[in-house]
Amino acid sequence: MQRLEAYIRNIPDFPEPGIQFKDITPLVKSPAMLRLAVHQLIHPFLGENITAVAGMEARGFIFGSLAAWELGIGFIPLRKPGKLPYDVETMSYDLEYGSASLEVHIDALGKGDRVLLVDDLIATGGTAAASCNLIEKLGAEVVACAFVVELDFLKGREQLTNYYVHSLIHY
Ligand code: AMP
Repeated sequence: MQRLEAYIRNIPDFPEPGIQFKDITPLVKSPAMLRLAVHQLIHPFLGENITAVAGMEARGFIFGSLAAWELGIGFIPLRKPGKLPYDVETMSYDLEYGSASLEVHIDALGKGDRVLLVDDLIATGGTAAASCNLIEKLGAEVVACAFVVELDFLKGREQLTNYYVHSLIHY
């Protein structure tokens, strides 16, 4: 994972003073590192009969879509409010910086679906916990949550004690 870590750029004080922003754009620019990251994200779940990958706007769309492609299954976008055109379920949550909501189409998932949740990074865990709640509101099961980066010192994992959490790089 040291190979991947070399492609994560730290941007101090973005988007606010005190935040160390982990910029994944150098990683996704590299064909080899992008491929490695996606393969490592899905590897523990290859035998788990996952039926869908869900990813959060916006960087979760990058890794989530590719994970779904590699698993040969569909991708479910969890979007910021007002973006999805059909009927939605909504969940609000706190961020490391500010607060936000996520929405999903009511018919995106249902009973019997076994979902892998994917995002670029887990910080406080609020986004991922809200996403798991959203998926479960639709009657689907969250099999695991997978992240490229985990900020261990923010203890986001403690928001996800009911789920298997898989992260590639720890800070
Ligand atoms: P949280 O809900 O606190 O776990 O925040 C996770 C979400 O915010 C993810 O979608 C990340 O993309 C983004 N995020 C939070 N903190 C950072 C950070 N330090 N660097 C990059 N992205 C971050």
